Amino acid sequence: MKNIIVVGSGAGGGTITRELASKGVNVTLIEKGSFTKTENAYEHYDNADVGVELLQTSCIGGTTVVTAGNAVRTCQKYLKNMGIDIEDEFNEIEEEMGVSTLPDTHFGKGTKIIMDKAESMGFNTQKMPKFINPESCKPCGKCAFGCPRDSKWTSNEYVNDALDHGANVVTNTEITELITVNGEIKGVKSNNKEFLADIVVISAGGIETPRILRRSGIDAGNNLFVDTFVTVGGIIKDIKFKNEVQMNALIKLDDLIMAPHYSGILFDNSKNRGARENDILGMMIKIADERSGRVREDYIEKYSTAKDVGLLAKGSTTAGAILNEAGVDPTTLTSTIARGAHPGGTAAIGEVVNKNLETEISGLFAADASVFPVAPGAPPVLTIVALAKRLGKYIEKEFQLD
Ligand SMILES: Cc1cc2nc3c(=O)[nH]c(=O)nc-3n(C[C@H](O)[C@H](O)[C@H](O)COP(=O)(O)OP(=O)(O)OC[C@H]3O[C@@H](n4cnc5c(N)ncnc54)[C@H](O)[C@@H]3O)c2cc1C
Repeated sequence: MKNIIVVGSGAGGGTITRELASKGVNVTLIEKGSFTKTENAYEHYDNADVGVELLQTSCIGGTTVVTAGNAVRTCQKYLKNMGIDIEDEFNEIEEEMGVSTLPDTHFGKGTKIIMDKAESMGFNTQKMPKFINPESCKPCGKCAFGCPRDSKWTSNEYVNDALDHGANVVTNTEITELITVNGEIKGVKSNNKEFLADIVVISAGGIETPRILRRSGIDAGNNLFVDTFVTVGGIIKDIKFKNEVQMNALIKLDDLIMAPHYSGILFDNSKNRGARENDILGMMIKIADERSGRVREDYIEKYSTAKDVGLLAKGSTTAGAILNEAGVDPTTLTSTIARGAHPGGTAAIGEVVNKNLETEISGLFAADASVFPVAPGAPPVLTIVALAKRLGKYIEKEFQLD
């Protein structure tokens, strides 16, 4: 029987491991982090300050353990125009994850007032679709730290499912290199061990996947995007927004999105005005940034282009106006630094992998945010999962796995 190795257990890796294991395929998942309880996810942040602050986590579940549970289809049309149709996969995963907007009981005062004011100002405002179970979710505002009630989907669910189907999971093992012979994949290496395989899928995320590929001579790591965002906010006494479900609404402009969002940085910026954590109301502005960055062995480079800065400024001005209408004292408005939580584009379809996500090395695939050909400018998990699911089906169909 053929051996398949998947490197990384996040949105892409967890999905493909489960997809193959559930079909009885012999699959080994190798992850550099460890198993963790979702409530402790914040302990696994592995951030980098590279011109924007990059947020990611290293553990079983990858960065899915700290998501806000936002479940949006992104890049579907773009991919379809490239000949990649993931409609079926979107439908399957939305059902599996229970994607839906949350009931009114899960909308707090701060979110409601932002939605009301944005709508009355003529902005396209809607509830954010979530992969959060409303039965067990008790709004606490802690999604991005790890859910204390395990109420949101993470790829741990898929990893556990894969384990139940007989997958082998190796933790605390960082893959450093590929083993190739005559342009064909033969396995992967960590510092002290070799793992042989007939097929390898690299799902180490938008930063580490290109590094692994580059060490085998593949020209990956160019054209990095991060979906740059800032959070703008200020003081409104006793709003208690911090403990609400974050990003529970989606406000769409033509070229950016906004969502109600608390950041501890806003609180830090407002302490000298006598603010308490309960007095802060904020909004995130997120853009599809230009693919201006690059990843190399010992550095990551990412800068905001003039167009990016213009969009962030436009979004910040708009958010400021909405927050002002919502009752935030306009003299207290402040902003976070530019950050990025969706690094990708570094092994893009059409540049580094083909439409089946295969690299120039036969039997070597990539399946994670690195394969996006364009910045989504919106939550990417659903699309990563859909692409990984599609790859699982392709591998099962095209390769003699028995
Ligand atoms: C705070 C925050 C909130 C977010 N909220 C949302 C949201 O609500 N909705 C949404 O759609 N998206 C959200 N995102 C983005 C989303 O989490 C990521 O885009 C997604 O998880 C990326 O999937 P991936 O498979 O590319 O990488 P990851 O999920 O990051 O997985 C990569 C895995 O590979 C492992 N790895 C790396 N290098 C190696 C190596 N050399 N050997 C072995 N293992 C390795 C890592 O430890 C990690 O487990 C959020 C991100 C952050 C930071």
